[in-house]
Amino acid sequence: MSGVNEIRSTFLNYFKKNGHEIVASSPLVPRNDPTLMFTNAGMVQFKNVFTGIEQRPYSRATTSQKCVRAGGKHNDLDNVGYTARHHTFFEMLGNFSFGDYFKEEAISLAWNLITKEFGLPADKLTVTVYHTDDVAFDLWKKIAGLPEERIIRIATSDNFWAMGDTGPCGPCSEIFYDHGADIWGGPPGSADEDGDRFIEIWNLVFMQFEQVTKEQRIDLPRPSIDTGMGLERLAAVLQGKHDNYDIDLFQTLIHASEEATGVKAEGPFRASHRVIADHLRSSSFLIADGVLPSNEGRGYVLRRIMRRAMRHAQLLGAREPLMYRLLPALVREMGQAYPELIRAESLISETLKLEETRFRKTLERGLGLLGEATETLSDGDSLDGETAFKLYDTFGFPLDLTQDALRQRGISVDTEGFSAAMERQKAEARAHWSGSGDAATETVWFSVRDKVGATEFLGYETEKAEGII
Ligand code: ATP
Ligand code: MG
Ligand code: MG
Ligand code: MG
Repeated sequence: MSGVNEIRSTFLNYFKKNGHEIVASSPLVPRNDPTLMFTNAGMVQFKNVFTGIEQRPYSRATTSQKCVRAGGKHNDLDNVGYTARHHTFFEMLGNFSFGDYFKEEAISLAWNLITKEFGLPADKLTVTVYHTDDVAFDLWKKIAGLPEERIIRIATSDNFWAMGDTGPCGPCSEIFYDHGADIWGGPPGSADEDGDRFIEIWNLVFMQFEQVTKEQRIDLPRPSIDTGMGLERLAAVLQGKHDNYDIDLFQTLIHASEEATGVKAEGPFRASHRVIADHLRSSSFLIADGVLPSNEGRGYVLRRIMRRAMRHAQLLGAREPLMYRLLPALVREMGQAYPELIRAESLISETLKLEETRFRKTLERGLGLLGEATETLSDGDSLDGETAFKLYDTFGFPLDLTQDALRQRGISVDTEGFSAAMERQKAEARAHWSGSGDAATETVWFSVRDKVGATEFLGYETEKAEGII
């Protein structure tokens, strides 16, 4: 059985053999794109190469890219722990052609890798093409010998990729693995496609157009290729597992979490261990790339992930900070491929421990309040926005933590009420300050307050004074 580390090298070496430069993963904080929260795909570091703004000494590249999808356009946070195939942090394996080869070679390279090098049985594979892409349809027939019913035409944006409103774009083809009739779900494009039976493993993007204006789309003189395959999903298939969390890497992390808590990953505790293992990876890699927990922007996404993990640690009965104790297992598993983890190990460890220590008290008090407020609620009910806001404002509960806490009981949160309560508080504070008449001071004060969240900030100061930290 191949482990994750071996699968990663097989992929990169295969493309190296086929004339590709192995390029290191770029950081999770995109250097060239302030509009993007986190690097969420392999192509991000090559954006300017695709548009021709930047030149590189190679026209074929391959990477294993660190990705986080926990904010912005791609947000898989709510799926984590509950689907077999989503993580907040994952590695995207990719091969890229910058005006070099196009559809035929891309399909050939991909098919050869998965069926010959990795030995996947062709009869378990189904592909999709964009509904008008006859060229790709015919190539799949010719190269892979797939029967027409397993080359599915899709008309939605799932199979048409665009960099933005303008810029390079084009149809894509996705490769799905059929995990068998025991698992619920239908083939792509069917009514049951959201199930976990057919799992998308690889997406091939054929960049052949440039969207010049909203109305005008022209052919690119030198079309390009961008592909992305989830390493964890591929590893699941190759290790004969259906669920990403059953692969070697995740099992090691989950075992570490079982050891540290003394609670087996079974029954109601299964999801918690999965969330913890996932969030340990995203938090650690984000910290290694310079993100620190804070109350705004990227730092707030990190804080949300960390706090969410802490609630799950609490559910497992952990009375002491847990996450930092699992870090050595992660560093052992992934440190060789990503030496930044080793370099930042002590910073990651301290940051995890500090955040967990600080949040522990308010977490317990907040969960107490949440318990009382929802005592009489049952499946299908909704928690009022005022209480959700109080949990946020006084106890530092990100909204999604509250939602996640109520999820298993089928209780939702009135998010409109939550926003209204937040607005009301801002308006009250503004009215309170209107006496000063100094617009500039007021603006500064509000931006500071929005950043730190007044009550939460005071909470930390108080705890510091009590000697907790
Ligand atoms: P899905 O439809 O399953 O959410 P996607 O179409 O959003 O996947 P792409 O944007 O095409 O995914 O990314 C390329 C590949 O990266 C996917 O084919 C998949 O193997 C992997 N991938 C995407 N999102 C995740 C995730 N949250 N966790 C793990 N792997 C992922
Ligand atoms: Mg997705
Ligand atoms: Mg998809
Ligand atoms: Mg896709």
